[in-house]
Amino acid sequence: MSGQDVLIIGGGIIGVSCAEELTRAGKRVTLIDKRPIGHGCSYGNAGWITPCFAMPLPMPGMLIKSLKWMADPQGPLYIQPRLNMALVGWLMRFMRAMNQQQMLRSIKALTGISIYSLDQYRKWDSESHGAFGYQQKGLLMVSQTQEGMRAVLEELRLVSSNGVDGRQLSPDQVHELEPAVDAQKVLGGVYFPNEAHAEPLAAVNFLADRSRKGGAQLLPGTELLELVVRNGAIDHVRTNHGIMKADQYVLATGAWSPPIAKMLGVRVPILSGKGYSMIIDKPARMPHVPMMLIEKKIAITPRADSLRLAGTLELVGVDESVSMGRVDAILRGSAGLLELPQPLEVKEIWRGLRPCTPDGVPIIGRVPKLPNLLIAAGHQMLGLQSAPGTARLAADLLLDRPPAFDPAPFRVERFA
Ligand SMILES: Cc1cc2nc3c(=O)[nH]c(=O)nc-3n(C[C@H](O)[C@H](O)[C@H](O)COP(=O)(O)OP(=O)(O)OC[C@H]3O[C@@H](n4cnc5c(N)ncnc54)[C@H](O)[C@@H]3O)c2cc1C
Repeated sequence: MSGQDVLIIGGGIIGVSCAEELTRAGKRVTLIDKRPIGHGCSYGNAGWITPCFAMPLPMPGMLIKSLKWMADPQGPLYIQPRLNMALVGWLMRFMRAMNQQQMLRSIKALTGISIYSLDQYRKWDSESHGAFGYQQKGLLMVSQTQEGMRAVLEELRLVSSNGVDGRQLSPDQVHELEPAVDAQKVLGGVYFPNEAHAEPLAAVNFLADRSRKGGAQLLPGTELLELVVRNGAIDHVRTNHGIMKADQYVLATGAWSPPIAKMLGVRVPILSGKGYSMIIDKPARMPHVPMMLIEKKIAITPRADSLRLAGTLELVGVDESVSMGRVDAILRGSAGLLELPQPLEVKEIWRGLRPCTPDGVPIIGRVPKLPNLLIAAGHQMLGLQSAPGTARLAADLLLDRPPAFDPAPFRVERFA
């Protein structure tokens, strides 16, 4: 392949969003993925498009909380015990980012890009009539402890000062809004009315189709093996299906990005935050609003004919093994809130690697020493909800347009 304007490596939600945005801007785009398109972390996530969910992972006070969670083998956070430089370096940066000032900057950046994305998905849904299962039913965060209630109210305070609407609910109001939850099972909650959800793989396919219609070539089963640098820029890439050449390159390889960037001597401190999702049959009392169980960090998403339960963050390397103990902990945690069907039949168990940066903000920017390479990776738990905004910023930077968002919080150099 030669003469393309842009070659995108990685066909998850971030890669296909960049392809869609760039073809819309008139660029000739090729996208490659070593797997079928959308079969990385973008395949089975909770499907939330929720600007309220914009708290970066390293929050002040998070250290104590993480240690408590880690002492519980089935808690929502786990760090694989292994001593390597990547983990130590990542944890040091994580701890450095746990301060009020950095947190406020990150929330502003994350809500901004997510609100833009929500508007874009809404527009696409109205043009496509349900092509990717988009529904705007809000998001209900429910709490079963005083500590959880305090945390969710603090979250409400922080995101509402960044333009996200939400309101506190009593246990009775939670039940009134979502009759599948008994008032006696919760201490209260917060409802964010403008949030949406969608089918994650359908969203990838929708954007992949739009890119193809715009002239992009999407090549699944094509693995990047080497990026070849000549005269201070990427000259071409070598793949399992031959050499490919373009004017500009976008690295959107999610959790797989660090070893690729390392070939170029570029530091991309991303660790995988492994999570699980399960699809189960509809319970008799089917929830109609997506819900987050604050204490257990479990996400519950209603689907057309089933229910998706998702959760857990295990900090690992690129490790896609399945811990059935964690799967069962998510099922048990959900059963503590909802009446799940008995016997419980799990139709699908999925795991995905969230690409996690130590400061909780994705990397979206050009690599200073290789000006024709842009990185768009590290979207941790909000890749779907921030993909259109990411693509907009990436395209603005690639096409030298005035950026729609302040690029500073996202830049690559912050980890140099
Ligand atoms: C349990 C769980 C629930 C989640 N819930 C939500 C949610 O509700 N809302 C939300 O916004 N986010 C959610 N997320 C996070 C979201 O799924 C990710 O942020 C998002 O999928 C990341 O997208 P990506 O395109 O960067 O990565 P990926 O989807 O992983 O795509 C990267 C692609 O790069 C390809 N690739 C890697 N190496 C190469 C190579 N050498 N050559 C070619 N191709 C390569 C891979 O095959 C892969 O397809 C959740 C994640 C998990 C695990």
